[in-house]
Amino acid sequence: MACHCCSTVDPAKETPSPASPYTIHTSQLFDSSKLEVLSDISIRVNPATSLIEAVYKRTSPLGSQVPAGDVDLRGKFVMPGFVDAHTHIFLHSYWETPSAQQKRDESFVERIIRAVNHCRTALLAGYTTYRDLGSESMQEADANVRDAVNRGLMLGPRLFVATKVLASTASYEPRNENHLGGTRLPAGGDAADGCDEIRKAVRRRIGAGADIIKFYADYRRRIMRAPPKQQHPYVAGIRFPNSNDNPDSLVYSAEEMDMIVREAEMADAPAAAHAITKQGILLAVRAGALTIEHGYFCDEECFREMKARGTLLVPTLAIAERMHAHRFGAIKDMVKMAHEMGVKLACGGDTGTFNHGENAREMELMVEAGVPVLDVLAACTLGGWEACGGPRCGKRFGCIEEGASADLVALEGDPTTDITALRRVEFVMKDAQVYKVGGRVKEDAT
Ligand SMILES: [Zn+2]
Repeated sequence: MACHCCSTVDPAKETPSPASPYTIHTSQLFDSSKLEVLSDISIRVNPATSLIEAVYKRTSPLGSQVPAGDVDLRGKFVMPGFVDAHTHIFLHSYWETPSAQQKRDESFVERIIRAVNHCRTALLAGYTTYRDLGSESMQEADANVRDAVNRGLMLGPRLFVATKVLASTASYEPRNENHLGGTRLPAGGDAADGCDEIRKAVRRRIGAGADIIKFYADYRRRIMRAPPKQQHPYVAGIRFPNSNDNPDSLVYSAEEMDMIVREAEMADAPAAAHAITKQGILLAVRAGALTIEHGYFCDEECFREMKARGTLLVPTLAIAERMHAHRFGAIKDMVKMAHEMGVKLACGGDTGTFNHGENAREMELMVEAGVPVLDVLAACTLGGWEACGGPRCGKRFGCIEEGASADLVALEGDPTTDITALRRVEFVMKDAQVYKVGGRVKEDAT
């Protein structure tokens, strides 16, 4: 990769003219809008605009060689680039280092460098878009990483970021028990209570560059009653906890949630709600949140309301598998019910709490839950675009259509018959730029 930052010459004169349009030829193409696999489709992309210019069915056979400059993806399963709709770029697996220790012990620089690595790993795993829901005590650095990707300084998915999350006072922050000398773990939220403060907090997030407003409808905010060991470094767990020591309780009232969504919509930004309890889910849905994150206690009533309002469910099965193993069967049944009732789904693993690059686990688990595989592929493409805000994104992705961003992946194997193909990503294109070809990083990928 050429270094442009220390160049003294006029960069405009140095920049090579963008490559001219070329065509990608496929034999199996997943259409995320029609939920069909189409044969013999060719796609014309334009690197100068980053867009798909044309999609057409070939009427005459191509022969064994495609025209010079074109890309031959025949024999592969081609689909829109994956969208992970719930990620945290600054986190690595909790099973390597618990959350509070990452926030307390890792330097700002280390966490940035980790994020650069995570973004590269994600892109090469086929994830061309990340919806990153909270910077996890890294202030607004997620917006800066987004911009670095968009400026071509590093490899990574297109990022939609939330910066700091909104929660009411003392509801969400990582906590410890030693406050002597003002010892606190770095805050991750923008604490705000009541409509006036909430209005200001949403405006601060918008001003700081947030694409999405993330708020907590409920959380384990009584955690200091009986601090569990894993979340609190050097703190022993409680020997005989009560069954109600660490419940999920409402973080905001209905009036406050309404204000969050209304204020976000004034800036044309979608709101994403962390909501686990039925009460939290219903209040967030009625307030107009675009997505429910986790939603582990959704029931028929929640789904009826979500369907009526077009709310998406991002069930984060990949983290539930690890954190809620005791009722994981019930959570999978809930996802199946959501699908059967016609609730829109997006695939988001809460990736980062387990390692980036393992993102496809969410799709695998959605299939295991009983959602048909083509619907899962749609949830991980078009569903992701909708979760990012749909038309509010300012561009279309997650589909292969004229005018959409040219984001494509090619898999070795057919995931409709062999789900392990989702992990065999041979080719990655984002914005009409190729980053991976023949299963390897393209050498001049910038
Ligand atoms: Zn999360």
